[in-house]
Amino acid sequence: MEKHRIIVIGGGAAGFFAAINCAQLTNNTEVLILEKSNKLLSKVRVSGGGRCNVTHACFDNAALVKHYPRGEKELRNVFSRFTTTDTINWFKERGIELKTEIDGRMFPTSNSSETIINCLMKEADKLDVKIKMGVDITEIIKNKDNTFTLTANGGGSFSCNKLIIATGGNAKASAYEWLEKLGHTINKPVPSLFTFNIPNNPITELMGVAVPFAKVKIANTKLETEGPY
Ligand SMILES: Cc1cc2nc3c(=O)[nH]c(=O)nc-3n(C[C@H](O)[C@H](O)[C@H](O)COP(=O)(O)OP(=O)(O)OC[C@H]3O[C@@H](n4cnc5c(N)ncnc54)[C@H](O)[C@@H]3O)c2cc1C
Repeated sequence: MEKHRIIVIGGGAAGFFAAINCAQLTNNTEVLILEKSNKLLSKVRVSGGGRCNVTHACFDNAALVKHYPRGEKELRNVFSRFTTTDTINWFKERGIELKTEIDGRMFPTSNSSETIINCLMKEADKLDVKIKMGVDITEIIKNKDNTFTLTANGGGSFSCNKLIIATGGNAKASAYEWLEKLGHTINKPVPSLFTFNIPNNPITELMGVAVPFAKVKIANTKLETEGPY
């Protein structure tokens, strides 16, 4: 490897943001995103009912972390280094204004997640971040010289000096076996936000409907939630 290379596995929001920052903060370094599917930032597209709830107008980190069901300690650490204000300014510097709704949620003024996708894609392109799609990484080997060799499903191998794993969530712990082999400990995954997979149900026509307030309950369980959707 002549040029220093950073590989980011996963072309979602986290992967793009990491890649953009790496490209911005390094010299003589190639930054490469490897994405297993043929789509980039696909979750961002559906986020916030297609409007992308970019951040929340809460400027006190101690209060902000309380809105998350888990990971308070880790999130405090992260938010202390990149605050809500930093997020707002990051987008503002790139020409994207965010607006605040009465409940504190912040969206792009365009009301479209496409604005956020375009911003991330444009920024990555400007910084010459390389992207390869259809590359499903199944094995990582850490070499003696501290470089990494990655193997993709169906062949193909990649080398890098630094590696960022931004592969998002998965319902099954077994999906992370390839990371356990590197010596990482994987916490048992728990459900969070997810999309319903109901392709043959007419309810799909309701996609994108947003209401100021809703209460949802799963019959015969104690599970219920309420708020603006
Ligand atoms: C319906 C819905 C609405 C949401 N609304 C909001 C919102 O309004 N605001 C908000 O902040 N958050 C929202 N979220 C959550 C938000 O979308 C996610 O937290 C965020 O997109 C996660 O980004 P990520 O980059 O960590 O993971 P992902 O977006 O899941 O990206 C991971 C990428 O890695 C790829 N990958 C996985 N394994 C491999 C591999 N082995 N090799 C190569 N590539 C791999 C995947 O294909 C994927 O593209 C919402 C989520 C959902 C489902």
